[in-house]
Amino acid sequence: MVQHGGIAAKKILVIEDNPQNMEVVRMMLKRADYDVLTAANAGNGIDMARRALPDLILMDIQLPDMDGLSATQILKKDQGTCNIKIVALTAYAMKGDREKMLAGGCDDYISKPFRYREFLAKVEKILAMDVASA
Ligand code: MN
Repeated sequence: MVQHGGIAAKKILVIEDNPQNMEVVRMMLKRADYDVLTAANAGNGIDMARRALPDLILMDIQLPDMDGLSATQILKKDQGTCNIKIVALTAYAMKGDREKMLAGGCDDYISKPFRYREFLAKVEKILAMDVASA
């Protein structure tokens, strides 16, 4: 595991309505020393993103109040939040999904069910891209 040392932990907002998926994601991120914020619907997630300005958002696609791609577009069109990386969490593992998520404004996507190593590798990769492009 990467040691963060004195550097502040990266802040990750998870927007997910399924309590079990949320707990799995939250535990994986906490174990890797990330600072985790959570929201169970798109509306609260958007509010929290605007207030907390996380380094990364993990966005479920099927949410109760709004789909995750619509929420992504709202955040990407907002000057205050447009630079936050957004990774879609999708249950669909069908061909063409990646293109759909990227066309929807997401920076990448992770398919459920989550596999720990693959999940963390993708999170680290996206956060590193953020630093490189800053
Ligand atoms: Mn969902």
